[in-house]
Amino acid sequence: MNLTVRILIGMIAGLMLGMIIQLSGVADDSWIQVYLVQGLLDAGGQIFIASLKLMVVPLVFVSLVCGAASLGGHGNMGRVGGKTIALYLLTTGIAISIALMLALVIAPGEGASGVDITPTDFVPNEPASIKDTIVSIFPTNPIAAMADGRMLQVIVFALLLGIALSRSGEAGARINAIFDDLNAILMKLITMLISLAPYGVFCLMAVLFTKVGWAEIGKLAAYFGTVVLALVLHASLVYPALLTLLARINPVRFVGKMREPMLVAFSTSSSGATLPVTLRTVEQRVGVKNEVAAFAVPLGATINMDGTAIMQGVATVFIAQFYVIDLTLADYLMVILTATLASIGTAGVPGVGLIMLAMVLNQVGLPVEGIGLIIGIDRLLDMLRTSVNVLGDGTVATIVARSEDDLDMAVFEDPDAGRVVPEHH
Ligand code: ASP
Repeated sequence: MNLTVRILIGMIAGLMLGMIIQLSGVADDSWIQVYLVQGLLDAGGQIFIASLKLMVVPLVFVSLVCGAASLGGHGNMGRVGGKTIALYLLTTGIAISIALMLALVIAPGEGASGVDITPTDFVPNEPASIKDTIVSIFPTNPIAAMADGRMLQVIVFALLLGIALSRSGEAGARINAIFDDLNAILMKLITMLISLAPYGVFCLMAVLFTKVGWAEIGKLAAYFGTVVLALVLHASLVYPALLTLLARINPVRFVGKMREPMLVAFSTSSSGATLPVTLRTVEQRVGVKNEVAAFAVPLGATINMDGTAIMQGVATVFIAQFYVIDLTLADYLMVILTATLASIGTAGVPGVGLIMLAMVLNQVGLPVEGIGLIIGIDRLLDMLRTSVNVLGDGTVATIVARSEDDLDMAVFEDPDAGRVVPEHH
């Protein structure tokens, strides 16, 4: 049985188990809750996420050193970087525009005045200044950056080291060979861990679905539906159009190959934790060469969040309508700008998109308490938008690779390339 089918089975079985536990109304202190849900299943889910996260820093570091070494700091590097960032911004801008337009047409917040506000206690952070944000990308201590998982700092250090490696003659060649070997070994390790995904996904879904608040979703159905519709439109129209026009490749085949990272993103709600799976898929299943993938995918997992921007766009309109506050055209342009920045600043972990929404609301003078309206149903939307975030990273990496002649079409066309097959010992 192929891996996707196994993950899907794990997902549906977990979902059903969670629902059965929820519907049977077992008490919070029953053995089912204490030992099964919060004990065994929660432990399984946490171990799965830990095993993915454990790979992030070593894999990004090693594979980016290899990638930067083969680009060697020549002119291509700036061009690849520029194209990648431009496409990330462009796709996020399109995403939020679609979200705003749909929300204005559907008007999910009108007539929603009956919804109660769950009080929220978070105070929005003062956003850091642009200068501080840029300075903070440059590490003073690469080990500390790795230990804290500060991805942009790790990326900068790996790029610099890779460039130096390519310019260091024989010494560089020796170390480069070691990094290439390490990269192959880490890719093997992630392949081994991915084959455990069906079990991890089962645990995560079972725990989550014991507490999904269906009644809440019913009350906010218009908001929920608008976000889902915008996500679906963006994923099924915008990415395929860009892949067809800019990369001239078959988008259906592309999405088919991306299904594993999308499923992992859906069940972990974290593009950061999914990153190792995304990187492996983009390189080995889609065929993007390491020099582009190792840069574009980790950068995307850190700064490119189209799904998050979509939620923020719809939420802003929803909250404005709920409080009957009119936004002007200038306000909407401001929302596009700040939501794009906010999605760059959103870490790829569960739920942060909602916290960053405070920044957008502040910017256009909407009450931040409005977040309390939608917080109750954010968990499910988080799963969906994280899948779109990850699909967006893969799409941009593939388009950039194609334009640089770094997409291996033989791998892309081969449906079996990079497939995870169970190993027999
Ligand atoms: N969970 C999202 C991600 O990891 C971020 C968010 O929107 O909360 O991509």
